[in-house]
Amino acid sequence: MLDKLISIIVPMYFEEEVAQECYNRLTKVMKESQLNYELIFVNDGSTDKTLPILKEIALKDERAKVISFSRNFGHQNAVTAGIFAATGDALVIIDADLQDPPELIPDLVAKWQEGYDVVYAKRKQRKGETWFKLFTAKCFYKFLHSMSEVEIPKDTGDFRLIDRKVGEVFKNMPERNRFIRGMMSWVGFKQYAFEYERQERFAGSTKYPLKKMLKFASDGIIAFSSKPLKMISYLGGITIFISIILLIYSLIIRIIGVNAQPGWTSIIVAISLFSGVQLLSLGIIGQYIARIYDESKNRPLYIVDEKINFEEKDNNKKE
Ligand code: UDP
Ligand code: MG
Repeated sequence: MLDKLISIIVPMYFEEEVAQECYNRLTKVMKESQLNYELIFVNDGSTDKTLPILKEIALKDERAKVISFSRNFGHQNAVTAGIFAATGDALVIIDADLQDPPELIPDLVAKWQEGYDVVYAKRKQRKGETWFKLFTAKCFYKFLHSMSEVEIPKDTGDFRLIDRKVGEVFKNMPERNRFIRGMMSWVGFKQYAFEYERQERFAGSTKYPLKKMLKFASDGIIAFSSKPLKMISYLGGITIFISIILLIYSLIIRIIGVNAQPGWTSIIVAISLFSGVQLLSLGIIGQYIARIYDESKNRPLYIVDEKINFEEKDNNKKE
């Protein structure tokens, strides 16, 4: 157990108030559990004292590594940089603000040792968050769940442990607008949900203002669903259907001769029929765009977990 290296990836954006405490707590937990570890702090372009604090830590402790971005590239990109830099056998992604308790890491590691490749932490409860955040998060996960083509677990953040091989697959997904928790579900492998209670932020305030949250939510939905495009086609189909009914109805009125306003029939039918046709055409174009989008994401076609009885025996097998 001790010979395995655990890489802990911590993104930080304006976290001067929590950086030191985060390091202390992580170090304490990892030392006590006697795990071999490295800490990868990613400074996502903060211009407060976050970077100087991290530099100081790195001077004293060679297990602490620091990557610093030239500007703010966002949480998901910071985590991605950490995954690229990690050298461990297992990678743990954790928020800097101690909302995800570092004390759970040994439990995540234990599950990994049992053979799970992704151990994600599922929040049972979220303390100290505004009703607005809780409500929007709930709606978002519900909506994502109904739209998405892959099963993305509800109430799950990026706090998780992934096996090295999952990290390798992740590195081969070059898409630009990254929604990591969705990508980690998409890869498959043996996944385990570990329930925990989400704590309050140790200090400071959220670095996810509404604008970032909306971008994050739309990344999640657009990257994992082309249903909105399909809906346009359905809508077009329904409109055409309605216009045909209208056509029949107005023809009947015309023939019987009751209440027939001159011009009414042709206008109504033309408007509804052509708007239906337009929507349908948009939907069809949308389907092609969805294909182009899918291709441009350049995700691997499939992911092999194990190969049995093949020549190269070395690295594909689990021990
Ligand atoms: N974060 C980041 N870049 C950003 C925004 C946030 O690296 O642009 C980091 C932040 O420092 C923290 C984690 O992402 O470690 C989660 O952010 P936060 O706790 O503010 O989000 P919340 O818990 O409120 O959703
Ligand atoms: Mg937080």
